[in-house]
Amino acid sequence: MKTQQEWLELKDRLQIETNAFINGEYCPAINGQRFEVVNPATNESIAEVAQCTQEDVNIAVKAARQAFHSGEWSDSAPEHRKRILSQFSALIEQNKEELALLETLDTGKPIDHSFSTDIPGSASAIRWYAEAIDKCYGEVATTERDVHAFISHQPVGVVAAVVPWNFPLWIACWKLGPALAAGCSVILKPSEKSSLTAIYLGKLANQAGLPKGVFQVVTGYGHEAGDALATHSDVDCITFTGSTKVAGQLMVSSGESNLKRVWAEAGGKNANIVFDDYEDLDHAAEAAAAGCFYNQGEVCVAATRLLVHESIKDQFIDKVLSAAQRFQPKDPLDPSSCMGSLIDQQHKDKVEQYIKLGVEEGALLRGGEQTLEHGAFVSPCILDNVDNSMRVAQEEIFGPVLCVIPFKTEQQAIEIANDSKYGLGAALWTDNINRAHRVAKKLEAGTVWVNNYNEGDMTVPFGGFKMSGNGRDKSIHAIEKFTETKTTWIRLQPNQ
Ligand code: NAD
Repeated sequence: MKTQQEWLELKDRLQIETNAFINGEYCPAINGQRFEVVNPATNESIAEVAQCTQEDVNIAVKAARQAFHSGEWSDSAPEHRKRILSQFSALIEQNKEELALLETLDTGKPIDHSFSTDIPGSASAIRWYAEAIDKCYGEVATTERDVHAFISHQPVGVVAAVVPWNFPLWIACWKLGPALAAGCSVILKPSEKSSLTAIYLGKLANQAGLPKGVFQVVTGYGHEAGDALATHSDVDCITFTGSTKVAGQLMVSSGESNLKRVWAEAGGKNANIVFDDYEDLDHAAEAAAAGCFYNQGEVCVAATRLLVHESIKDQFIDKVLSAAQRFQPKDPLDPSSCMGSLIDQQHKDKVEQYIKLGVEEGALLRGGEQTLEHGAFVSPCILDNVDNSMRVAQEEIFGPVLCVIPFKTEQQAIEIANDSKYGLGAALWTDNINRAHRVAKKLEAGTVWVNNYNEGDMTVPFGGFKMSGNGRDKSIHAIEKFTETKTTWIRLQPNQ
């Protein structure tokens, strides 16, 4: 791992590509417009990125469709796609210093996290699907004797991947991996707040040998480039991660255009329940702090509602506060930094408004002392004595704010945990195996963790119940989202 000085030197040498990547080439937006990219930790302007609109999207969709129809990728042997995607993944690994630095400059996240987690995770996601795709089989149905019916999966066609800014490259790769492996043509639309690593992928896609039009990057705003993809009648599927509000808009756009498949991974307000029978409270407190404050709390599955048994609440909060010390914000380019800056000043203002609101609603503020003056930094804080009906307990803050809600009984803990429009993740801490199974089963969440928070792996699906979405990223199941299921009947002639 480089020192802070070495990262700064690399930053000075970095050539930042700022154009969209359409039909195998970097190109500016047709209307010539650009938007500014600002490093949120320093307020420095770092680039001006192509601001694509409907016209650019039309060209990208046409190229994607042509590539799909040509069959060069969509009809190629899975073994071929495996080889090219493995190379794509290897190139991400080889370029991980530049990619990690771009991610940190663009989002404010700590360089150690970009370098050690986000970028290797991105490469690993592509590699996992590359390795899986030639192990996927069709099925033969159990029909009567003179008929043969088989079920196969064909790539869905042109896929738009619309992604957020909190894990820009990593979440993109969760979608690119299965969609490209399945044989689709993919147009990636990064968030306007974090486009740089997505743009960089264009060069790597060419180097890996992905045919023109199979992978493209359209940069720009959600209401322009994103909406143009969502309403386009020649896009077959949109795979989205972002807010619940935009997920709903995409579903409307689908209904009003061509019924494109919409897979949405949306928000969360996740409950982390600590029972009084759990002995290792130090461990649970460490996990509660990391679960809420990792990535500045800008995590859909952050453990933002801490439900603690009333008998241990005060001692547990002290432990969480002490564990939170290591998350005091620092310069994101300092390799020892565990918390960087939020994505931008506007988001910082929003998070601070929520902290104020929590206090006005009657919560007790602990922690949250500011440590850095410039940049979009917010220190971790706890809102104690929160009632689950308060806005701070119901709405996604997406910052380092932990709401503590006391409970008396197991039943009450389950009711509070499920009293949310979201259902992404949930956790419980107990030494009672019966309670572990009982409660895990009742929690309305796509992922439940017992005595840990945030275990994850490419082998398991990730996604939510209720308004946290309808799709699942990761695992072999994600490939199904990018295929159409086809049944073929063959009537056999009797032997004459
Ligand atoms: P967002 O919904 O504002 O934007 C996400 C993407 O959608 C961006 O690329 C944006 O440009 C685009 N977009 C915005 N409006 C659009 C429109 N009208 N049509 C088409 N595209 C549009 O979300 P965000 O602020 O970038 O990210 C934070 C949100 O993402 C949080 O709610 C968080 O919980 C969620 N998230 C969910 C998961 C998950 O896996 N469930 C993971 C990470 C983040």
